[in-house]
Amino acid sequence: MARYTIEGRTGAWEVVVGLEVHCQVITKSKLFSGASAVFGDSQNCSVSTIDAGYPGMLPVINQYAVEQTVRTGLGINGKINKYSAFDRKNYFYADLPTGYQISQFFHPIVTDGWLEVTRENGEVKKIGIERIHIEQDAGKSIHGQVKGKTFIDLNRAGVTLMEIVTKPEMESPEDAGNFVRKLRAIVRYLGTCDGNMDEGSMRCDVNVSVNRPGDGFGTRVEVKNVNSIRFVKEAVEVEARRQIDAYESGEPVTQETRLFDSDKLETRAMRSKEFAIDYRYFPDPDLVTLVLADDMVARIRDTMPELPDAKKQRFIDEYKLTEYDARQLVSEKEVAEYFETAAKGNDAKKVANWILGDLFALLNSEGKDITESPISAENLGKLVGLIGNNTISGKIAKDVFAIMEKKKKSPEVIVEEQGLKQVSDTGAIEAEIDKVIAANPDKVSEYKGGKDKLLGWFVGQVMAATKGKANPGILNEMLKKKLG
Ligand code: ADP
Ligand code: MG
Repeated sequence: MARYTIEGRTGAWEVVVGLEVHCQVITKSKLFSGASAVFGDSQNCSVSTIDAGYPGMLPVINQYAVEQTVRTGLGINGKINKYSAFDRKNYFYADLPTGYQISQFFHPIVTDGWLEVTRENGEVKKIGIERIHIEQDAGKSIHGQVKGKTFIDLNRAGVTLMEIVTKPEMESPEDAGNFVRKLRAIVRYLGTCDGNMDEGSMRCDVNVSVNRPGDGFGTRVEVKNVNSIRFVKEAVEVEARRQIDAYESGEPVTQETRLFDSDKLETRAMRSKEFAIDYRYFPDPDLVTLVLADDMVARIRDTMPELPDAKKQRFIDEYKLTEYDARQLVSEKEVAEYFETAAKGNDAKKVANWILGDLFALLNSEGKDITESPISAENLGKLVGLIGNNTISGKIAKDVFAIMEKKKKSPEVIVEEQGLKQVSDTGAIEAEIDKVIAANPDKVSEYKGGKDKLLGWFVGQVMAATKGKANPGILNEMLKKKLG
């Protein structure tokens, strides 16, 4: 299929994107100290002497943080390196008390991963992942609380981050958004990062370049700290446009770091390459080589949960869903769980339709996610069951669904209380049909004279008379017979 391009004034341009994604690792304590890594403590209350950079303190690695990174590495099909090492990334900032961040520069723990994303047009694109390395987060500077003063909160200092660096293999805003969405689903399935971008537990640096079809890569510009999937897509879009405009106006594009302004939809220069920081990376002398025990890696491998792609395939095989529906349902672990609960003993395809249609529309309109759904999976399953065993029609089910949302009752109770049971009693339906026929002799003769379309009108009349409860199958059949 043709590659995505952006049309400039002077022709088409290709876009190249590479991402650096920082994920805060789910652990109880910090990467090199026993202080709590759990978000929400009072300021500076989860800080050890190690995090505060006291002289003479020595870091001790958190094994669980390492295991979480290994788990993530396996989740993105990466090579888990038995040997990796920690390096110091040196820079001065008030919220970095040691004057350096411990990271993995020369020998990261995971290399050579990949994951696949599905484009809107159905095409599957494999995106390479260069590396995952482990590093510490810095503290937080709080500006503007008191005029002229900046406060420092070190609770975040020393919390574990994984930095996931892709190859420059995404070709459009869509690819970049899909990659982040897929990666976020994977870390959530794994329980290694909560993926909450608006809270900053997952943030992206977006590298963008443009080139003419057939040419090599253009100069890369890095857009820092983009914190939602929509912003990632927009940042690629506007930065690519800016570069195209520059090239087409004969201005150079320089390698630099920029910031994305989501209100103005533009990127702004932050620092250029000449002012790039020299981090003077060197191996941290306080830490020995990180050696992974084979049995530890094997244990993690054996306890990996079912990930989105595998779950999608199982949904297709087991529940006979379409690829598209299965993909939507596995995009979040909680949605997949909801689906499987609701589908138990019911028509799975119908359940999928209700979730992806009516339920998602409802959740969207209320700004809720599936865990806050006013309709439980069990109840949605029961509703589909009631249609399946002909207790209610599909049309009445829509009404029951609306009542379920408001009343939080099971569909059986609602159907019972409101007398919504479908009338399948042929005698009762026949009586209504006879009444309609008797009251409309002109319509009957028109129908008999060849106006077949009138059948629908008769169905409507009888349906109205039974308040929509007549079993549509029986009604149709009977009407046809009666009208000859
Ligand atoms: P640095 O450490 O200086 O940021 P890296 O080599 O780690 O440099 O690359 C950072 C990111 O830039 C990677 O995600 C990579 O895929 C991406 N990248 C490299 N070249 C390009 C390019 N021409 N266009 C877009 N992204 C690129
Ligand atoms: Mg970088």
